[in-house]
Amino acid sequence: MPRGNIPRQPSKAGRQDRVQRPVSMKSAPLKPAKLVVSLKAKPGLQTSSGAALKPAAGLSGKAKSSATPKGYSPIAPERVNEILKRLDERYPGVTCALHHKSAWELLVATILSAQCTDARVNMVTPVLFSKYPTVEHFAALQPEDLEDDVRSTGFFRNKAKSIVGAARKIVQDYGGEVPRTMDELLTIPGVARKTANVVLGTWFHIADGVVVDTHVQRISRRLELTKNEDPQKIEQDLMKIIPRSHWIDFSHQIIHHGRALCIARKPKCAECPLENLCHAADKTWSTVEIHKNAKP
Ligand code: SF4
Repeated sequence: MPRGNIPRQPSKAGRQDRVQRPVSMKSAPLKPAKLVVSLKAKPGLQTSSGAALKPAAGLSGKAKSSATPKGYSPIAPERVNEILKRLDERYPGVTCALHHKSAWELLVATILSAQCTDARVNMVTPVLFSKYPTVEHFAALQPEDLEDDVRSTGFFRNKAKSIVGAARKIVQDYGGEVPRTMDELLTIPGVARKTANVVLGTWFHIADGVVVDTHVQRISRRLELTKNEDPQKIEQDLMKIIPRSHWIDFSHQIIHHGRALCIARKPKCAECPLENLCHAADKTWSTVEIHKNAKP
């Protein structure tokens, strides 16, 4: 069979996407042409059961799936370290995509980023910070004064209220400086653990927790690093299995991964560096067996 004629196979649907095998080939066994290339590129890797890698999802079009197999631990240190290593290789030096020049600006940008793209926030904040250059300027406002400036980020009334409330708290209780401990940050209106972790990790380089946003939430579940859905529980799970030295980078890398490849609706599994470590139920291409419970 000529190489290159085998399309990617969607493991979940069990059918190939928009591509049909020629009638003359339908009885012939398929060879994993793409997989050979893939596996050669990653020598020594094994399936979760320790067997040599092979296309368990199958080019036959019938994805093999099961509950998480007995004896397989998705949070085994070797697997977690391999995931971290590949993320380091794929996303070296990544950092927060929100533009900022101070802890205060990062705090405001993170509050604005809820349910909004970083690109949109980055369009809004330069205007905002040129109009109100310091935390004291924000503290002197009424929330309604800010609403028009942040309207395009969505939920603008709540966000304006949080930003003005945060500014007042920081001016009144912290001398105009964003505090650098989790406990203190959590006293600020509009700041929960995610925002606090962003500020601590990105600005102060303090690893006090793991940022769990929608990407980290989805991908951690796909990778079976957690079974929880609640962000705080996910963070606790991740903190137990990821070395503290990786807490900050892991979040940035997973957020980039979630935007570039492991997108919510149709992950680009065939291009993913974690592919043969991932058993997600909604993979679009797989060389390993699918675990029914590994889903967002
Ligand atoms: S293989 Fe697919 S589902 Fe798994 S992490 Fe990569 S892109 Fe996401």
